[in-house]
Amino acid sequence: MESQLEALKQSFCEELGQARTTDDLEPMRVKYLGRKGLLTSILRQMGSISAEERPRMGALSNALKTFMEEAFASKTGELELSSGPAGIDVTLPGRALRKGGIHIINSVIRELEDIFLGLGFTVASGPEVEDDYHNFQALNIPEHHPARDMQDTFYFQQGILLRTHTSPVQIRVMEKSGPPVRIIAPGRVYRCDSDVSHTPMFHQIEGLWVEEGITFAHLKGVLYEFIHRLFGKDVVLRFRPSFFSFTEPSAEVDISCIMCGGKGCRVCKGSGWMEILGCGMVDPEVYKYVNIDPETVTGFAFGLGIERIAMLKYGVGDIRMYFENDLRFLAQFA
Ligand SMILES: [Zn+2]
Repeated sequence: MESQLEALKQSFCEELGQARTTDDLEPMRVKYLGRKGLLTSILRQMGSISAEERPRMGALSNALKTFMEEAFASKTGELELSSGPAGIDVTLPGRALRKGGIHIINSVIRELEDIFLGLGFTVASGPEVEDDYHNFQALNIPEHHPARDMQDTFYFQQGILLRTHTSPVQIRVMEKSGPPVRIIAPGRVYRCDSDVSHTPMFHQIEGLWVEEGITFAHLKGVLYEFIHRLFGKDVVLRFRPSFFSFTEPSAEVDISCIMCGGKGCRVCKGSGWMEILGCGMVDPEVYKYVNIDPETVTGFAFGLGIERIAMLKYGVGDIRMYFENDLRFLAQFA
């Protein structure tokens, strides 16, 4: 009988070791500890053993019973932890927290800031809710001036509007401090426009350098350095005459296509050139609005769209994707 108890314990341990879920345990409990179970059937032989042996066999079988009950309890706890009543399998690998990243537009702004900080510029900012005076009039765009048609403005009442460009920061900086001024002003601007290449909110960066003796050559020097640091030394610049009401003369700058190197491709529509920014020498009229004597200083200004830079740099075809908050898109740049 002693060897039967020993064998029972062994097969119990083996079977318990193979149990994978709590559902496996109940049939086992019935099989070993049930009223018609294996332990009971061994105990039935108690009558056939000698009176001297009986107490020892009784103690042995009681110990085995306690052992099995405790083993069941601990195995049940173990399996509940791992498979659990809520169906949680704690043995599965954890769900990792996704690392956040800087939005592609912010990261391009930081890159541009780094370049201009290296060229001795400081970063300035101004309000996004502007007045007509700073957004238009002081930039030499009087009421009814045809240049206002170029921009679809979001107006509030009483001459308040969402700024349509970062250029009013030029005025605000020059109002506050006279020359020398050497700033860049990145920020959000707003226009009533939405398609593949326009969103109602987008970002520009403005540059302004006003000081004694500043010439168009300085402008070219700064822009060459900027473009070369951004797109590489092989990029060629082309200045085309243009018109902005607050610069004279004005130019639009093209760069040789960064996709095909100027040979002509789908992105540059076969021309080999890409429009990149507008610039010019600050119109003397503008100085009058900020109490600077145009006879004492000269300066230049330039402005460009941040999204445009990001689209060229990363080959993105639809500007709206930057602001749809689709993580599958944004995570590529994080
Ligand atoms: Zn091209």
